[in-house]
Amino acid sequence: MAHALVIGNWKLNGSLHLVSTMLFDLQYALRGIQNCKVVIAPPVIYLGNVKQAICDSFIELGAQNVDIHASGAFTGEISSAMLKDIGVKYVIIGHSERRILHSETDQVIARKFYMLKKEGLIPVLCIGETEAEYQEGKTKEACARQIDVIMHVQGSEVFNDVVVAYEPIWAIGTGKSAHPEQVQEVHSFIRTYITQKNANKASLVTIQYGGSVTSKNAEALLAQPDIDGLLVGSACLNIESFIEIIRLAAKQKQVA
Ligand code: PEP
Repeated sequence: MAHALVIGNWKLNGSLHLVSTMLFDLQYALRGIQNCKVVIAPPVIYLGNVKQAICDSFIELGAQNVDIHASGAFTGEISSAMLKDIGVKYVIIGHSERRILHSETDQVIARKFYMLKKEGLIPVLCIGETEAEYQEGKTKEACARQIDVIMHVQGSEVFNDVVVAYEPIWAIGTGKSAHPEQVQEVHSFIRTYITQKNANKASLVTIQYGGSVTSKNAEALLAQPDIDGLLVGSACLNIESFIEIIRLAAKQKQVA
């Protein structure tokens, strides 16, 4: 893959002040960086402000959620067409916080995936195992199950030009990042799994790792051949850390 992909997921954090300061500093620091795609996924209320702030840069806009419906009486929801309308390109779905705190099932996530693909947006499909599955050695099984629920209904071609974010649930927001070699093994499995079902197309899938990524552990993770990029939560709210992670991604994948 030609470019690394680093996504900053602000989750339920941010303000107009953060939008202006963070995006100003980020654009300044990233001048000259060419081989790392950077996406900012702020809370939905700031999407327009972020869009305005990044309009002269290569940074792209991401959203943290989408509804399963196209339109109608669904108070509080946002459709894929609306996200596209305001310039969003990437949309995070299947995040474990939505699966757990909002009871989103694999079927709901598959429907969101379908709505995004239909609109020409890029799903960032988060998959990963629970701590119990990890302890039982069922990581690959859990990932395959979460891929299958989409593939079996929508076909294997839908995985062309999508982002799969491998995020072990036990590693998210815990400070316990997975070991780079373990992540490599899972990413290689995911790539092969998709390839087998969709001959010669798996190289079109970008596979990110997410889970307590910091500027300290990013280099070792990015050194792994099947880690194409990083989905960064808390560390993306610290401008120095986030810039360092992006610089490391650009450097590492240039060498690769
Ligand atoms: C995430 O929210 O996807 C994430 C990986 O969070 P953190 O980096 O804080 O673990």
